[in-house]
Amino acid sequence: MDGPALTPIVVLGATGSIGRQTLEVADRLDRAVLGLASGSLSNEIVDLAHRYPGARVAVARLPDRPIDTTLERRIEFGPDAVAALARLPEATVVNGIVGAAGLEPSLAALESGNRLALANKESLLVGGPLVLSALESGGGELLPVDSEHSAIWQCIEGESDEEIRRVILTASGGPFHAHPEIDLERVSVADALAHPTWDMGERISIDSATLMNKAFEVIEAHFLFTLGYDQIDVVIHPGSFVHSFVEFVDGVVKAEMGSPDMRKPIQRALTWPGRMAAPTVPIDLMEIALTFSAPDRERFPALDLGYEAGRRGGNGPAVLNAADEVAVEAFLDRRIRFTEIVEVVAGTLDAVPPAPISTLADALAADAEGRAAATEAVALAESLRYR
Ligand code: MG
Repeated sequence: MDGPALTPIVVLGATGSIGRQTLEVADRLDRAVLGLASGSLSNEIVDLAHRYPGARVAVARLPDRPIDTTLERRIEFGPDAVAALARLPEATVVNGIVGAAGLEPSLAALESGNRLALANKESLLVGGPLVLSALESGGGELLPVDSEHSAIWQCIEGESDEEIRRVILTASGGPFHAHPEIDLERVSVADALAHPTWDMGERISIDSATLMNKAFEVIEAHFLFTLGYDQIDVVIHPGSFVHSFVEFVDGVVKAEMGSPDMRKPIQRALTWPGRMAAPTVPIDLMEIALTFSAPDRERFPALDLGYEAGRRGGNGPAVLNAADEVAVEAFLDRRIRFTEIVEVVAGTLDAVPPAPISTLADALAADAEGRAAATEAVALAESLRYR
């Protein structure tokens, strides 16, 4: 059997949750690792430099201490060094960076004609139109590494976009949706971080608890699959066994299912169009509960904010994302309450006037504007509390 074209791998955000799982998959598949990047100089990235002696290693932020060891001297510093890894010829670039810093490397990978396995949501939220034009001009491949979008992508392979009636994204609901008795004003950081089904980073765990993550995924689906917002629905499915549905114009519905494990969408993007064996836990259909319910849009207003920001277009998604990043950080620092995360985001969307995103500068400006307005909104929320 002929395998798929196994290009070497560049892992951006190598020390994060997606990065670590990507390296696990890459090692198991015996794929060469060509490049590794992280946001800051840490023991983890130095360890990775040691483990992958053939890889180029880049760190986005300049070190705040002198670099001394031989391993550290191998590291290139600055955002340009990270983007350079994304441009390495004939690479599969896995972008697991958290935050708007992921946009430029995504554009670099696509402009260079590389395969981009995209786990960085901000690339599409902050610069969706730019990502699509880089894809078109560079001739690269854009493959989603998010369980829902990977599911949709696998369901529509061989189908045509015009024949999709709608997609239905599944949401686990996070730790609170199934518990209407919980007072969301009083939940702690630890409560919100306790995700029932997926093992993820901190920001995305909080975003799952507010349903903001699903709001982001609605916008991602709009860009990835050229769908109108009225073609994207969300259903709560606590077990996370069905990763999403696609309904076609003839009423046929396809779903992609399996145990929740991010290594599967990662591997799908690394081996596509072929498949390779993986030691994943098979689902036992006799044991799992396939239950679905409507999202509680009043208790979790983030979902409709996402549709609103998406329909607004232009800088809407970028502002939504920037405001959420600031608000989640403030919640994790215990400066605002859980319910204030969405209040800060809504206030920020009202405060920042609509603007188009035509260039990278527009995207970065929208991100900066959203962050500034959200920082003010957080300060206001804090000052009201302590008065
Ligand atoms: Mg997801």
